[in-house]
Amino acid sequence: MNRPKRMLLENIAWARETAHADAQFFPRLAQGQSPKVLWIGCADSRVPAETVTNANPGDLFVHRNIANLFSPSDDNTLSVLEYAVRVLKVDHVIVCGHYGCGGVRASLLPKSSDLPHVNRRIAPLCALGERHRHELDSFGELDARANRLAELNVLEQVRLLREHAIVREHDVPPRVHGWIFGLHDGLIKVLASGYAEESESRDIASAQVTSLRAA
Ligand SMILES: [Zn+2]
Repeated sequence: MNRPKRMLLENIAWARETAHADAQFFPRLAQGQSPKVLWIGCADSRVPAETVTNANPGDLFVHRNIANLFSPSDDNTLSVLEYAVRVLKVDHVIVCGHYGCGGVRASLLPKSSDLPHVNRRIAPLCALGERHRHELDSFGELDARANRLAELNVLEQVRLLREHAIVREHDVPPRVHGWIFGLHDGLIKVLASGYAEESESRDIASAQVTSLRAA
């Protein structure tokens, strides 16, 4: 059986199981969406937003691209942000990067002539790496430098989002958070909280307590 065929069969199984578990699930979905969170993540197949946060259809408005970049000159990203903030009125914008990111790693390597679009896309990342070259060099190996740049990249996207007029000038601006996902343990680390009054460590601690309570 080819892969698309198998995926369609899996879809039928999922739809049946979901409807069986909650008969009102699809009727509710069909009525409309009111997600509270805009998720800006990496296109990497290993970091699916809903799966890693135990979320359901309808919970997250999602934009994913290579290296979870918010580009103020890109209509694709901007239209998603505009709709999320002005129409859906999300309370939170979460930028979630991840360690072991191929896009971030590529920005530290010589450019491949086969990937002109990727090269153009990650140009801001290359510039960010240059700005932090001294710090990155102290991390030694490429993978360690790329992981530190992945963190700096999340913080940079958070800064750009917080400064953007769509966020800043909204009646009630959404809180912008910066997270990073660990492929080795599946856990998310908070790099920047949208709750200024809370320390990052308290955020992490309370998240762990909550998940323990839910377990
Ligand atoms: Zn990535």
